[in-house]
Amino acid sequence: MKSAFYPGSFDPMTLGHLDIIKRAAGIFDELHVVVMHNKGKSALFSVEERVNILKEATKDLDNIVIESFAGLTIDYAKKKNIHVAIRGLRAITDFEYELQFAQTNSKLSDGFLDTMFLTTSLEYAYLSSSTVKEIASFGGDIAQCVPDFVVPLIYDKYK
Ligand code: ADP
Repeated sequence: MKSAFYPGSFDPMTLGHLDIIKRAAGIFDELHVVVMHNKGKSALFSVEERVNILKEATKDLDNIVIESFAGLTIDYAKKKNIHVAIRGLRAITDFEYELQFAQTNSKLSDGFLDTMFLTTSLEYAYLSSSTVKEIASFGGDIAQCVPDFVVPLIYDKYK
């Protein structure tokens, strides 16, 4: 069985993330979506909330596993024996960071972990979790950015 995992902050998951999840799930037999948390980074949603949003959004897909992990990406890969990490590429500005992420993980794992990139669907090219949070913090319309059930959850955070 060919498995991959998609690590990220998902704070919160957007339609851009969901698009990558669905496409990657169509390529691999099993896709783990992993909420990576590190203590240094302050988040709007707790890890449990982020996991629950991902579970609800992917409940119709039968080859998805949603998990959280505190630690290095390569440690998750080795623990689960999964050789492929999925990442999404939007604009050229993502490229430098993502290239470094991929090369660092390859080097640190002695080639155990490879990174596969899916390019963003055009309609989600502008979307990022931080943009969604900024729009919501000013009471703007985020209906086209996240699944319907997530919209009130985000507004609640800014009450
Ligand atoms: P991190 O906080 O680890 O950078 P995110 O949770 O924001 O990660 O995103 C995880 C991955 O999803 C990253 O590879 C990011 O480039 C990708 N991604 C985020 N938004 C989109 C989008 N709209 N389209 C395609 N890929 C995206």
